[in-house]
Amino acid sequence: QTAQLTPMMQQYWNVKNEHPDCLIFYRMGDFYELFFDDAVAAAKVLDIALTKRGKSEGTDIPMCGVPFHAYEQYMGKLVRAGFRIAICEQVETAEQAKERGGYKALVRREVVRIVTPGTVTEEALLDARENNYLAVLYQDSLAWADLSTGELCVQHLTDANNALSILQPKEILVPQGFSEDFSEFHFSGTVTEQPAARFQSENGEHRLKQVFNVSHLEAFGQFSKTDFAALGALIDYIALTQKNESIALQPPTRHAEDDLLLIDGATRRNLELCLTLQGQRKGSLLDTVDHTVTNAGSRLLQRHFNAPLAKSAAINARLDAVTWTLENASARRSLRRALEICPDIERALSRLTLGRGGPRDLAALRDGLLQAQEIRPLLEHNPSALLIEIAQKLFLPAALCDVITDLQKALKDELPLLTRDGGYIASDYSAVINELHCLQNDSKKIMAQLQAKYAAASGIPTLKIKHNLILGFFIEVTPSVADKAFHTTDPEKGPDSRLFIHRQSLATAARFTTAELAELDKKISEADARCLQAELEIFDTFIARIREQATTIRSIAEALAALDVIAGWGELASIQNYSRPLIDNSLAFTIEKGRHPVVEAALKSSATQFTPNDCDLTDAQRLWLLTGPNMAGKSTFLRQNAIIAFMAQIGSYVPAASAHIGVVDRLFSRVGAADDLARGKSTFMVEMVETAAIVHQATARSLVILDEIGRGTATFDGLSLAWSTLEHLHNVNKCRGLFATHYHELTRLENSLPQMRCFTLNIREWKNDIIFLHEIISGVANRSYGLHVAKLAGMPKALLARAQVLLHALEQNSISQTLDEKIVNMPLFTSVQNNLPETNVEKHPIVMALTEIEPDHLSPREALEILFSLKHKLNGDI
Ligand code: ATP
Repeated sequence: QTAQLTPMMQQYWNVKNEHPDCLIFYRMGDFYELFFDDAVAAAKVLDIALTKRGKSEGTDIPMCGVPFHAYEQYMGKLVRAGFRIAICEQVETAEQAKERGGYKALVRREVVRIVTPGTVTEEALLDARENNYLAVLYQDSLAWADLSTGELCVQHLTDANNALSILQPKEILVPQGFSEDFSEFHFSGTVTEQPAARFQSENGEHRLKQVFNVSHLEAFGQFSKTDFAALGALIDYIALTQKNESIALQPPTRHAEDDLLLIDGATRRNLELCLTLQGQRKGSLLDTVDHTVTNAGSRLLQRHFNAPLAKSAAINARLDAVTWTLENASARRSLRRALEICPDIERALSRLTLGRGGPRDLAALRDGLLQAQEIRPLLEHNPSALLIEIAQKLFLPAALCDVITDLQKALKDELPLLTRDGGYIASDYSAVINELHCLQNDSKKIMAQLQAKYAAASGIPTLKIKHNLILGFFIEVTPSVADKAFHTTDPEKGPDSRLFIHRQSLATAARFTTAELAELDKKISEADARCLQAELEIFDTFIARIREQATTIRSIAEALAALDVIAGWGELASIQNYSRPLIDNSLAFTIEKGRHPVVEAALKSSATQFTPNDCDLTDAQRLWLLTGPNMAGKSTFLRQNAIIAFMAQIGSYVPAASAHIGVVDRLFSRVGAADDLARGKSTFMVEMVETAAIVHQATARSLVILDEIGRGTATFDGLSLAWSTLEHLHNVNKCRGLFATHYHELTRLENSLPQMRCFTLNIREWKNDIIFLHEIISGVANRSYGLHVAKLAGMPKALLARAQVLLHALEQNSISQTLDEKIVNMPLFTSVQNNLPETNVEKHPIVMALTEIEPDHLSPREALEILFSLKHKLNGDI
């Protein structure tokens, strides 16, 4: 069968067989062509024509093509649709192929890169404000890199699902056979399996030493065997897909959770920190408070969101820096103006070091580094240690200054996107290029002189010298005077000679050349090629010099991003009138006139003003029980306090008149009911899983927000669970917490839980209507006004009237009254004693089985059977 294939198709199949899991972008002149099933799949996703090229085994070969100049947008669409793409380039010219293998030789092609979701670096394919992470999950290690910025990190995992839901990598690598395990995970990236042999710690150590050119790795920190295995697999994959051994990564850093405020994935989602519940950035906290002016700043801010701090010294260092930018408004404005025009150095550097950069990336580095020099003096005489450190990082060593000076001289003002387009090096930068440029310029004049000379010799005033890619320079006349041109004699050679040599006759023109023109054409095209070559050599010299300075450039880029984040916080605090939180190691939590930044921003467009509220969870009242009508603002209040703690611990001022927060170690939020049916959990199950995580993990230093626990099940089940959870938080966890509920029965616990206080939301009743004042006051609510909200929501009048009757009947029946009296004496609600951890006895299957038995309803025979089964269970257990 192979014998029937053309040599080109044989070459194609060799490539395809080496990369069976990729679409092959097979370079043919100005197009990337795709064949067979690849073509069918790509044409469908790209919505382009599916054509055919030749036959295989008697049937047409399906084919589609994308223009090489616009390949990025097509590639982006395919990568987003989950495809991997192998870019197969021509690695020699047609002339080289002919020299190598004669007239029929096929141009050699090779896969120069494999494009996957986690390894794209093209500006057009990246979200400028987001990191593009490629991650490796191996046992209890998670390693990740962003090829577009060079970041490389590793983390010891306690909860993989959680870590991935924070990092949101675009692609994750796992050992073969492990990809099914991801169905329950909260992340939407591509899972790529790799051979198990790639996950070996020795390989990892070896690869790291090789890439960072060191003999010992201790300088980078302490890494476990699984860390090395994960890092090794990551580096292998990058080398494999980039087909490039010089990988542009920073040395690995360890992501240490000990110094961080831990927030699980559920809490992040509930608080809508980086994404809204609908999965969008717009409307999230990040979107609302992001006042950075550069893409690198925005990306760093997101990293801060992913890793809020839990050490007061580090938080205060950030806050000191923000304070300076806030108090020095004119310096802040100058800083932000200077940063705004600063190009994305991080990404330009990565493209250049990966061999994928162009002249504009060089210009971006030049301009960014120059801006850094403008910015440094603005930070002088600064009281903030962090800003002093940043200013020091912005210092350019002499070698880098030289690179910039040379780039200033070398690059033209207008630059092409790609190096191969040429024309980006200024004439006076290099004598060779200057000479070639002169030749190119002179040739224009010479052509004009030649045209005049030939027009005179032939007596055809309309004769033109033109140029195209196939013929090069040629003489063109209209067909009506073609004969005249044929018979024009060469004045230097006498009457029998012919001046013009015929090249081509078209319906609209006749084309000729002369020996002199052909000679000049050759000289000019050689000059063009030499010029391009000379420019490429200069470009490569710059790349080599930049590689040597890569670490310094990266540190400058980081410093600029950090400065942007700090100045952004200053700007936000100034515009929104935020205040500096007092952060210490106490267990205080006192917020005066706190606001919810996102709700406040949303209300700006309406006539309503946000009502600020105080919250004090210090010592004697560390647990607040909040009751109140629907729509009164309970959830908003709960979330705003969690968000204030979060913002304070990433180093921001907070939306409050004042805030005193003893560092929070873990922030938990269980808000509202959310199904996770896709991951096989019902609403109530999700609620219980999240609540279980809280009661198991919350410490006295934690902040817990619980909204409407127990709503997803029958009233009494829910009430019992809410009740016992509240007791558990108060007596066992002893954390600071806010607990909102519509179970008004719970307010009675104020008598038995000394550190719990009841608060409610103030409303005003007016002519059968209620007005929400959104104001937190001490006390309890006796009604939820649910019917009122239903009316606002547009429920039919008849339905509401019926509901009113039912409500009245139910209230008369005073179910809750009887419940209240009985319930406080029941063991379930008095079982949790101070400091007592849950005992294993409670969890024993026999105890569980016994609690489910209702002896009153058992026949003697059933009772006997249960007894046997319990005995059986007990024996099995022993
Ligand atoms: P439910 O019990 O029905 O869940 P809720 O008491 O939790 O309601 P929220 O969802 O917090 O109420 O708030 C309802 C709406 O009230 C918000 O969307 C917001 O528009 C408005 N709101 C809440 N708090 C305030 C406030 N402090 N100032 C102004 N408006 C507010």
